[in-house]
Amino acid sequence: MTDAPVRIRPEIAALPPYKQGTQAGPGSFKLSSNENPFDPLPGVIEAVQSATALNRYPDATAGRLRERLAERFRVTLDEVHIGAGSVSILAQLILAAAGPGDEVLYAWRSFEAYPGLVLIAGADPVQVPLGDGARHDLDAMAAAVTERTRVVIVCSPNNPTGPIVGHDEFEAFLAKVPHDVLVILDEAYAEFVTDPDAVDGMRVLGSAGHPNVVVLRTFSKAFGLAALRVGYAIGHPRILDAARSTAIPLSVTAHAEVAALASLDAESELLERVEVIAQRRDALVAGLRELGWAVPDAQGNFVWLPAGAESLAVAEEFVAGGLVVRPFAGDGIRISVGEHESVDKVLRIAASVIGTLP
Ligand code: PMP
Repeated sequence: MTDAPVRIRPEIAALPPYKQGTQAGPGSFKLSSNENPFDPLPGVIEAVQSATALNRYPDATAGRLRERLAERFRVTLDEVHIGAGSVSILAQLILAAAGPGDEVLYAWRSFEAYPGLVLIAGADPVQVPLGDGARHDLDAMAAAVTERTRVVIVCSPNNPTGPIVGHDEFEAFLAKVPHDVLVILDEAYAEFVTDPDAVDGMRVLGSAGHPNVVVLRTFSKAFGLAALRVGYAIGHPRILDAARSTAIPLSVTAHAEVAALASLDAESELLERVEVIAQRRDALVAGLRELGWAVPDAQGNFVWLPAGAESLAVAEEFVAGGLVVRPFAGDGIRISVGEHESVDKVLRIAASVIGTLP
């Protein structure tokens, strides 16, 4: 017998837990998690309230939602997979394709969950620095693919910096990546994109010759269901079957499924709200640039302030002014596009802090 503590895998013990955007106190705006500021539609609330009895398990495959999305995107049922948030599908896909000795490649800075999910799978993260304008440097990413690369993640629009990946550059990138490497196109913010040159995952999948691409989308952002945890993947059935095998069974709740279905019923109304947020975003970017901030292109529901070494201090100023934003130490600050009244507040504080920067 030994009194030694339980042995935890060293790479897990060294892993900091996922850090959530700070909650906002009364009177503050929470602009730290890229959430949708609009209240849920009455039809969505009703659907959740009338969902199946709580003592029954949900449908393990979220079959009705899968069917609905298959119709919506004109693909087969096998080409759709539902998860408890797109982040859980990311985890499933990485676990399915990469393990010890394998590499998972992605741009950095990008979505904060990527490094942890790769380490949990036991694989090695390979981070390729963003290029000019805080955009993906796809040439450098293609050059970084090795025989050990099993997964590449491309995030468009990129969280937290904002720019999209172009459609043509993505196609050119795919032509350089071997077909036995899984390419995940993370389009969590797809619905907010207004740039006509942006990659569109569904169009990529619709053109022949990309059996290794999986597109990830979510109901958390444009559809405002972040609390319910529901996202989806579209791609080759062989890859999605593997994700179904690594998934924790029954993690998509019945409530999440019916809320997603009700949101699809109200899609045009929800997309009108998305348009409002995109316009608010463009106004915010224009205002910040006028103040002198070098804000990169913003195509999601958030903007990036490149505050560099001052990021934590500048974020404190925003918090003191009633705006909870998300700082990335030494790099920049991500500000979600929130309630209408928050926009002027962001501009006012951004104006006052820019003068204090060295
Ligand atoms: N991908 C990106 C780029 C994100 O920013 C997020 C959420 N912050 C997700 C995936 C995960 O979203 P969810 O799990 O809520 O679908």
